Amino acid sequence: MEVQFHMTLPDKNGHFGEFGGKFVPETLMAMLEDLEKVFTSLRSDAKFKREFRYYLTEYAGRPTSLYLAERLSAHLKTLKVYLKREDLLHTGAHKINNTLGQVLVARKMGKTRIIAETGAGQHGVATATAAALMGLECVVYMGAEDIQRQALNVDRMRLLGAQVVPVTSGSQTLKDAMNEAIRDWVTNVRHTFYIIGSVAGPHPYPVMVRDFQAVIGREARRQFRTKERRLPDYLLACVGGGSNAMGLFHAFIGDKNVKMIGVEAAGRGLQTHQHAAPLAKGDIGVLHGSKSRVLETKDGQIEVAHSIAAGLDYPGVGPEHAYYKKTGRVEYVSVTDKAAMAGLKLLSESEGIIPALETAHAIAYLQKLARRVRRTSTVIVCLSGRGDKDMGMIKKFL
Ligand SMILES: *Cc1c(COP(=O)(O)O)cnc(C)c1O
Repeated sequence: MEVQFHMTLPDKNGHFGEFGGKFVPETLMAMLEDLEKVFTSLRSDAKFKREFRYYLTEYAGRPTSLYLAERLSAHLKTLKVYLKREDLLHTGAHKINNTLGQVLVARKMGKTRIIAETGAGQHGVATATAAALMGLECVVYMGAEDIQRQALNVDRMRLLGAQVVPVTSGSQTLKDAMNEAIRDWVTNVRHTFYIIGSVAGPHPYPVMVRDFQAVIGREARRQFRTKERRLPDYLLACVGGGSNAMGLFHAFIGDKNVKMIGVEAAGRGLQTHQHAAPLAKGDIGVLHGSKSRVLETKDGQIEVAHSIAAGLDYPGVGPEHAYYKKTGRVEYVSVTDKAAMAGLKLLSESEGIIPALETAHAIAYLQKLARRVRRTSTVIVCLSGRGDKDMGMIKKFL
């Protein structure tokens, strides 16, 4: 399995067109420039790439399979569906690709302490896992409200040796935890590394996270060509911050005939304010240190997002997605809570695979896509994670 990093977008200031960049306090600028320098040199460092590949293979379980979902395809009739099985990775989702990459960067920089913020707890668990693996101290900020809702993940993080710090300011959810993590970072930047969980945050995070996740698409592209002797017609992935989607899309961006679709969470409906679809409904704004599309109120406050899938429940989206929406390279659609739940049942019953609720949004859209295509088409879906973590929510909904 080769690990290579592409040098395409962003430009040297971290811009994807008008999006991206660095919107952070002055004290962090030097830190980000330092990180950028280290990351740029590591991108072409053979030893670092070998090390990253070692952990992806031996620890996380790569390469993941590209599985032909025959019964699902027969059900859909006009689609031949391949599932990229990120759910089979250690900790049950794609997030481990990124946290392993960043923890290795932290080690290279001589940092001894890892911080992260988490909403649903999935990124917190993947971070605590990677930190334990490297023997680094780990502190995870989490809204007090989220700590209540995600007790199982809190227990997992604590078992992994992480300190989970409840954040009691504001709405006591993800955006408040983000502020707290940044405050910690400013104070302790000398020995602390901040691991961001998606293709968001100030430059160089969006490009760094994309590079670590791009292994998904590189593997899928090669596996698909071996099986089908051509490239797929469609790629499909759910979009929260957008890391599993960028991970799948990146290796195909130059393939003009490969159509890409990102699926946002429409929550209780786009006409309500209870959704997590900044690409469909948001405005251009700054969140988490970069310019992108965000959900905000008329007076510019960040709105609380809603999705049944905790991992999609984020009021922003990575700047590269905002750019691809604007250029039209990627099409973005959205799927409601209710439709996602139907997608979850469909995959469970047709293939014996219970997907994460996030992933279920992409599965649900397959049914619409099946009606759209004129002739039988091939599609790769990023199966970003497994659904065990969601059993409580699923039971409540059904
Ligand atoms: C966190 C998560 C997502 C959403 O994050 P992205 O950065 O958009 O990929 C999707 N699926 C699963 C299983 C997750 O845990």
